[in-house]
Amino acid sequence: MNTTAETRPFEAEVAQVLKLVTHSLYSHKEIFLRELVSNASDACDKLRFEAIANPELMAGDSDLHIDISWDKAARTISVRDNGIGMSRDEVVANIGTIASSGTRRFLEAMSGEQKADARLIGQFGVGFYSAFVVADRVTVLSRRADAQASEGVKWESDGQGEYSLSTLELAGRGTTVILHLKADEDEFLSRWQLRSMITRYSDHVAFPIRLPQEKDDQPTDEWETVNAASALWTKPKSEISDEDYKAFYKSLGHDFNDPLAWTHNRVEGSQSFTTLLYLPAQPPFDLLMGGRDERKGLKLYIKRVFIMDAAEDMLPNYLRFVRGVVDADDLPLNVSREILQHNRQLERIKAACVKRVLDLIEKLATDEPEKFATFYKAFGNTLKEGISEDANHRERIAKLLRFASTKAEGAAQATSFDDYIGRMPLGQDTIWYITADSYAAALGSPQLEAFKAKGVEVLLMYDRIDEWMLGSLQEYAGKKLRNVAKGELPLDEADKKKREEASKQAEPLLKKLKELLGERVAEVKVSVRLTDSPSCLALGDYEMAPHLARLLREAGQAMPESKPTLEVNPQHPLLQRLEAEPDEAKARDLAMLLLEQAEIAAGAPLADPAAFVQRLNRALLEA
Ligand code: ADP
Ligand code: MG
Repeated sequence: MNTTAETRPFEAEVAQVLKLVTHSLYSHKEIFLRELVSNASDACDKLRFEAIANPELMAGDSDLHIDISWDKAARTISVRDNGIGMSRDEVVANIGTIASSGTRRFLEAMSGEQKADARLIGQFGVGFYSAFVVADRVTVLSRRADAQASEGVKWESDGQGEYSLSTLELAGRGTTVILHLKADEDEFLSRWQLRSMITRYSDHVAFPIRLPQEKDDQPTDEWETVNAASALWTKPKSEISDEDYKAFYKSLGHDFNDPLAWTHNRVEGSQSFTTLLYLPAQPPFDLLMGGRDERKGLKLYIKRVFIMDAAEDMLPNYLRFVRGVVDADDLPLNVSREILQHNRQLERIKAACVKRVLDLIEKLATDEPEKFATFYKAFGNTLKEGISEDANHRERIAKLLRFASTKAEGAAQATSFDDYIGRMPLGQDTIWYITADSYAAALGSPQLEAFKAKGVEVLLMYDRIDEWMLGSLQEYAGKKLRNVAKGELPLDEADKKKREEASKQAEPLLKKLKELLGERVAEVKVSVRLTDSPSCLALGDYEMAPHLARLLREAGQAMPESKPTLEVNPQHPLLQRLEAEPDEAKARDLAMLLLEQAEIAAGAPLADPAAFVQRLNRALLEA
């Protein structure tokens, strides 16, 4: 073991983080205390957890707590815990290096287009550095719970690029962080100020946070616990106010806004457990960042002992925005992640969590439409993943989905499948929809024309995930879901007859078009979808929508090339003009333009945009 005193440089990225933190947290300085208390609380959690297997770790000092004090003369604030502590190597690894992915994520998030709020610092695993927002020198004294008194470590830095490290004698286990305040930060040297910061940010930390009593402006030896220090979820609901619930949500450390809603339940029986689950009002930063791999936000406790962040084990992916706590009575305390993944009791708890969350969202949908709209805006697309991920709850999830519609004003996604079914005329057995890559593209699709003419409602779907989701949603409440652009439309007898006649009449026109377009199309047909437009694309029943195929191709996926089927409206003057056009070059221009405008409307890429522009200009000059 290395016991000598030494000075080491920070890694380059640490310096960057420090600079960013001190700048961007300038107007929220007080959060440094929250971060240090949260680290102290984590250290107590870790000790309690390790002590399950190794009770000697707690011997002689089993009362875990966090003590905060101040010294006006020395101008310091100290935060001390009797938690797990750190060895010399751990000090170097945890606060001297920032090899963690969190650093990079933080730097990216703070400089990215969608800037993160620096107050979220704790989420990125760099909270400790917030100490340098108010301090120009930070000293850490630490002794690991399983180390000798002689194996204490002292770490010190002015946050400027280097830190020093030495070994010293420390009487008790745990960690003390001493902040030497910057010149103009004296406001923090007051019991009242410290106390109000603790109440504001750390009231629900599960360990006692203590401040010394004060006499003549000086701290005394008498300590007073100043936080609620209780596991909120273990109290009966009747004793918890909305304010308590909100404060506890914020103390979970992912969000400093109020939650949108919560559900708190205790299940008693052969297997007893408590769940307290929250819906945030905004997407957390990691959800936006596509953080599917690192999922935090749901803490697993066993009889009030924190075991681990277990969001992955307790909630399906499509509910990854849920935050909260699960406390199980009957799981073995020495569970590991591997055990968790194959635990039948846990399966039951997981099922209960899903049910509670879906109940809560349903309740919002029926009782609090405004809150539901907020929820849906933030997490609707995440929820849609559940359609394919969770077959057991497919119908329940589908019931919660909302779309724009040809029978509703504007782009607001407000129409449910049930609304649609409620408006269906007698005899309609299909829920019609169209997918596109924007509201305007969906609403303007030529494929909708016949539906509009007949007054049949069509749902407009234009979120990227929709097309993919619909692959797992063939029906709802016994009604088939169908894309208006795909396959054959069901026709009544009169329509069928009309179409046959039209096709027969148009035979020479169709033949001419096919010859002019050659290999570009698979087939040219008379359309029953069109009333106003001259042409549109029709997709096979299982063919992917062109706008989606384009996206996937752009994302580097190999997509099979498929030739489109072109549908035309022989009544349209352009087609009549084509039929009568004797000049072959002009006729080919016109035919190509009919195909190209259908492709554009469907969001498909043009094979040769320059040639298209030339054709268009020739046609314009002609006109
Ligand atoms: P995070 O808490 O998200 O891991 P921090 O920057 O706040 O990130 O802390 C970095 C690491 O330093 C912690 O993960 C922990 O290993 C260590 N650490 C910080 N404070 C303490 C403490 N009071 N006791 C033990 N370890 C600590
Ligand atoms: Mg921390």
